[in-house]
Amino acid sequence: MATCNVCFRHCNISEGQLGFCGGRTARDGRVEAYNYGRITSLGLDPIEKKPLKRFFPGSLILSVGSFGCNLRCPFCQNHEISWSEHARMFARTAETVGPEELVDLALRTRSRGNIGIAFTYNEPLIGYEFVRDTARIAKNEGLKNVMVTNGTAELAILAELSPFIDAMNIDLKGFTDCYYSKVLGGDRQQVIPFIEAAVKTCHVELTTLIVPGENDSEEEMRELSRWVSRLRNPDGGSIPLHISRFFPRFHMQDRKATDVRIIRHLAKIAGEALEHVYTGNC
Ligand code: SF4
Repeated sequence: MATCNVCFRHCNISEGQLGFCGGRTARDGRVEAYNYGRITSLGLDPIEKKPLKRFFPGSLILSVGSFGCNLRCPFCQNHEISWSEHARMFARTAETVGPEELVDLALRTRSRGNIGIAFTYNEPLIGYEFVRDTARIAKNEGLKNVMVTNGTAELAILAELSPFIDAMNIDLKGFTDCYYSKVLGGDRQQVIPFIEAAVKTCHVELTTLIVPGENDSEEEMRELSRWVSRLRNPDGGSIPLHISRFFPRFHMQDRKATDVRIIRHLAKIAGEALEHVYTGNC
């Protein structure tokens, strides 16, 4: 049995078993990334799709994902690789690509406009060792490294990665502890310090998905955006906030897609405190 110290769950993992996220295991009494280099998704995406609006706009980035997630968002758009039964299947079938091989691929796509590697699609922090090892090599080759994350990890993990990461999009899924713990299976109290620390190390943009009846009140958006307005990116610029629209998916089919007018209204409210607010999925 070994204890994982990556996220708030601090799973006790028996030898050869998987932790709650499905991406970590215990071997010889130590916890390691079971999903190390196990690739489920790979694509050359516009950087705006991450979404990052103020980091090399107009460029492309080689985007890579593995399997597993430490949260349980019932509406997950990537449930096939995050936490469904299907995602568990990838633990047996996903191909392995080493850090050097992935960096090679990124270098080969440079001529098509690729600026680097984005660790995305599933939660990259649960396999942070692969992110660290790959991003280190990529940085030495002059590539940019991006991480798209739920920000749910101990600060020690962030400290290990931050020398190599140039930009992050971090989910700030709402601004109440109750929504995080009851609906998402997360811990807002771990996300807040993670964001506060991340903005000191690289360019950060935040994303809030507005789910009808859960986090769509004016008060919550006012509180969230005021908190974000107190943060600054390393260049002194304000933090961009992406407010995006929910669509019924996976285990959350009991409500309609968020009304576009609500997204625009909440973006207007956020705009009272923030310089850069973007709407998504509208
Ligand atoms: S990263 Fe995975 S194994 Fe580690 S504590 Fe979190 S859920 Fe458990």
